[in-house]
Amino acid sequence: MPNLLAHTDRCVKCGLCLPHCPTYGKTQNEGESPRGRIALIEGLANGRLALTPHLEAHLDSCLTCRACENVCPSEVQYGTIIDAGRALVAAQRPPSAHEKLLNQVVTRPSLLRLGARLLRFYQRSGLRSLARGSGMLKLTGMSRFDALLPPVPAVRILQEYYPALGTDTHGDVALFTGCVASVMDTQTLNAAIRLLTVCGYGVHVPRTQGCCGALHMHSGAPQQAHALAMRNLDAFNGLKIDAIISTASGCGAPLAEYHKMDDADRGLNKFSKKVRDISEFLASIPWPENVTFAPLEQRVAVHESCSLRHVLHQHAHPYTLLRKIPGIDVVGLPGNAQCCGAAGTYMITQPAMADALRQDKLAALQNSAAQLLVTSNIGCALHIAAGLRVAGQEIEVVHPVVLLARQLQISGGQA
Ligand code: SF4
Ligand code: SF4
Repeated sequence: MPNLLAHTDRCVKCGLCLPHCPTYGKTQNEGESPRGRIALIEGLANGRLALTPHLEAHLDSCLTCRACENVCPSEVQYGTIIDAGRALVAAQRPPSAHEKLLNQVVTRPSLLRLGARLLRFYQRSGLRSLARGSGMLKLTGMSRFDALLPPVPAVRILQEYYPALGTDTHGDVALFTGCVASVMDTQTLNAAIRLLTVCGYGVHVPRTQGCCGALHMHSGAPQQAHALAMRNLDAFNGLKIDAIISTASGCGAPLAEYHKMDDADRGLNKFSKKVRDISEFLASIPWPENVTFAPLEQRVAVHESCSLRHVLHQHAHPYTLLRKIPGIDVVGLPGNAQCCGAAGTYMITQPAMADALRQDKLAALQNSAAQLLVTSNIGCALHIAAGLRVAGQEIEVVHPVVLLARQLQISGGQA
């Protein structure tokens, strides 16, 4: 990145971001703070610092939650700096096994589907109990992955187009299905399609779309991230649509920032401008008069993902939408400004910090006395739900649109 030093120069080392940084909060170590990491990246970029395992560990332990960027008075683009810093590191060492695996699996939908089928067989055939009982998981280092895994749903290929329902139609949108979410969170995708079609929108689901590239961007592989962006650009190009709807904010945020990869690319700019988070979109459109919601006398806590809060700044919309349900008591999870520790693959690669941050969420959830937790990001949902399972707390974690679709009531002729 040619202007990395111009970005790092903007940091005046005031330290105002430090109280907002989760890793600094847990460690009180300057190397684990935004200011410290920017100084390390600056040193690496201008050749004053050599790459050491310590330096790399400080950059790896950043959650890329961007809470620091949100509060910085100098408008330092921390997200751009950390991604470029990690790319500098990646250029100086061979890719790790997990980076190689990531590149192979998440970029190939057929491999993802095969993986989901195998995992479902593993969970339902008794193989899982055998693997757990025999100690094989510990031996192969797979215990954490196994613990994070919720019941894997059956693989279902979505139609390429779902027509609008009813007579009051408004046009078409396209649905971004993501990589992990396309196999692990089909209930959210189905709920989104249901709500959009009921509201009078036809929904395109382009077959050739793929991973958003966020995992690659944050792990120092900007060329691969750019290639994935171009694949998605091709997949959605040519569709007559009002918006590209994302259900997972962890995908929606990078999609909305595709233009930063290449400012001059008008195609990427146009693509980014069309990206809308599902809650923001549904909260902005008129709903048909014959659509109502069945009452729900429950307290529902909202976990605000960092991508929705600190990057997209759209964390108010899930509350607006959920309050359409009569009787519901919607509360924000105390401490929502702090990351839950999921952060893409962070929950697997940095287990100690990820679990410490999740513990804060579990405690806040228990204190809130909520019977249900909603979040707009699949990564947060998987991580928090795994913590709840381990703690024996029976609280369901779902996307806001799943809850809305569950309570949906339609009077008159619609299907
Ligand atoms: S990133 Fe911003 S808030 Fe943090 S030390 Fe630098 S200038 Fe100050
Ligand atoms: S992105 Fe999050 S974890 Fe990383 S330095 Fe900023 S506040 Fe800290």
